[in-house]
Amino acid sequence: MADARNRSNVPRGRFDFEHRPETDQSFENALAKARDGRRLDVADGVELLTTGTDVPGIDRARKERVLEAADRRRAEVVGDRVTFVANLNNNVTTACNTGCLFCNFKDTAQDFEVGTDVDHGGFTKTPAESRNVVSDALDRGIYEVTSVSGLHPALALDDEHREILEASDRGDLNYRSADAYETDPGTYAEQMRAMSVGDVHLHSMTPEEAYHARRGTDWSYEGVYGRLKDAGLDSVPGTAAEILVDEVRGVICPGKIGTDEWLEAMAAAASVGLDTTATIMYGHVENEMHRVMHLDRVRDLQDRTGAITEFVPLSFVHRNTPLHERGMVDAGASTDEDELMIAVSRLFLDNVDHVQSSWVKYGDEQGLKMLSCGADDFMGTILSEEITKRAGGEFGEFRSFSEYAEMIAAIGRTPAERSTDYRQIREVDPDESPVGPRLGPRADGTPLVE
Ligand code: SF4
Repeated sequence: MADARNRSNVPRGRFDFEHRPETDQSFENALAKARDGRRLDVADGVELLTTGTDVPGIDRARKERVLEAADRRRAEVVGDRVTFVANLNNNVTTACNTGCLFCNFKDTAQDFEVGTDVDHGGFTKTPAESRNVVSDALDRGIYEVTSVSGLHPALALDDEHREILEASDRGDLNYRSADAYETDPGTYAEQMRAMSVGDVHLHSMTPEEAYHARRGTDWSYEGVYGRLKDAGLDSVPGTAAEILVDEVRGVICPGKIGTDEWLEAMAAAASVGLDTTATIMYGHVENEMHRVMHLDRVRDLQDRTGAITEFVPLSFVHRNTPLHERGMVDAGASTDEDELMIAVSRLFLDNVDHVQSSWVKYGDEQGLKMLSCGADDFMGTILSEEITKRAGGEFGEFRSFSEYAEMIAAIGRTPAERSTDYRQIREVDPDESPVGPRLGPRADGTPLVE
């Protein structure tokens, strides 16, 4: 029976969506196709994700069979390694006016203007500040810097773009001159050049940021990503995807680009030689049909580009979000739904090798469990600026290499450090001493923090 935490294929919320989890496929047939390695269609995916639309809620015995099939597929595709990357998160600004209802990261950009004394707790970094943060972390041994930011109204692609925006009399471009703000974030190109220190791998500029970097122009996404690549960008995070179905985006992020534009931007990034990742953020107002339609669009994109290095399911964290505060959602996904999302991602995306388990979203114990549900990657160290400054672990969101090695070895798998693109993989011996990163341009095995 379905209960409050086990309610798959019970329509969420009060939204009358056109797409619903209804199929004329059967669960057993879909599972047989998955086990045989045949390509799944959307109906198959819905049957697996709901453990059958013929029964209400999630059938735990069927769920276990789906997880087993996914775990077997994972072993066939990537073996028993569990990978992780030495990375730093350097977000440039929390200022954003886009107003996504699932977001608790942003602060209204007005609060950052000169003369306001609102205590918003957010930040904006100048390019020089970004450079210092990355430079310090590079010395510590990171391989990658990940940078995803709010859409600050003063951010333009480069000087040319800024001139266009300054000269425009359109009032709908979400642009304000940097003079209006306490801190000037510079341009995207300046931030890329600043963060591209040494040979660090720069992972940045989601499709939504690329849209912001071309607003008010007729520039193509190829052109925008080409300029960003010239400024030092190495690969693109496929976040801002949320659910790639417009009737869901219209509810949770009406200010964001639509599905087609997200896909167009990602294809453009790939066409100029940038690797990408892809994500799904699920467990809010959408249903299982939307989740599988999303997987289908990602798989199609990968068929066309081959550039997606990993898929990252992100379980919606509802607390402190407008969606929850306005009573539009009561909770996120159940644990059963989380496990099935990982498993069906593995089975459906037959052209993406790596599926990530996000310990930040799932927690340590469940994050490890996901590694036997189809996932094979366990994120990164996500060193943060605060940690690099204080060289301590008191800021929570940091995972050391020795912790990684111990946790992964304890479940009988092989820990392995990876590059962002998985082209370099180094197995880590939990008994080596010290246990630290070795793939970064300045990494020598010393732990990132003491
Ligand atoms: S664009 Fe990004 S930072 Fe801005 S509100 Fe949406 S999710 Fe939050």
